[in-house]
Amino acid sequence: MLHFYYGVMGSSKTAQLLMQRYNYQQLGLRVALVKPAIDTRAGANVVYSRVGLKAKAELVLERGDSAREQLLWLAAQNACSGFEYVFIDEAQFLTPEQVQELADMAEHLDIFCYGLKSDFQGNFFPGSAALLRLAEEIHEVPGGLCWCGAKATMNTRIDPEGRVIKTGEQVLIDNQQQIRYIGLCYKHWRQGISHA
Ligand SMILES: [Zn+2]
Repeated sequence: MLHFYYGVMGSSKTAQLLMQRYNYQQLGLRVALVKPAIDTRAGANVVYSRVGLKAKAELVLERGDSAREQLLWLAAQNACSGFEYVFIDEAQFLTPEQVQELADMAEHLDIFCYGLKSDFQGNFFPGSAALLRLAEEIHEVPGGLCWCGAKATMNTRIDPEGRVIKTGEQVLIDNQQQIRYIGLCYKHWRQGISHA
């Protein structure tokens, strides 16, 4: 079954993913940890949570990769055992083609995708739109809060001074920490107010 867990920036999606993966591992279940290549914040193959949890991904999917071929390759690397559960972090960066492949493979595997639903302008990421179309189970990862205390639902790009940035490329990851992403409630996202 294909699962999509979506949440805003700051909702501890990756921590939730790593904890769920840990629970499966504790039960002796075989899991694979996967991430798309586009996120390089913490090293190409590190799955990193802002609360401090991190783990090494067994597979990094490039945009042009076949998700099916790469997962079959990974299963072969694991020799006799393979895996029954796949956890994918930053799943918004999957391509729609990869999501389609995952949906087809999820007839035989449980695949848990964690990611953002929408970008800093409130538009779907293509990968997230595909997941919302094709996932059989969709869950919200709660917990993201706006500075006002309301539930955060919108992802916001801010500059080093905390000013809200409303235009630019959909994907812009700055390893020098010049831009950051935070979650805001709809009202404060619309007004472009990132702090009290
Ligand atoms: Zn607010």
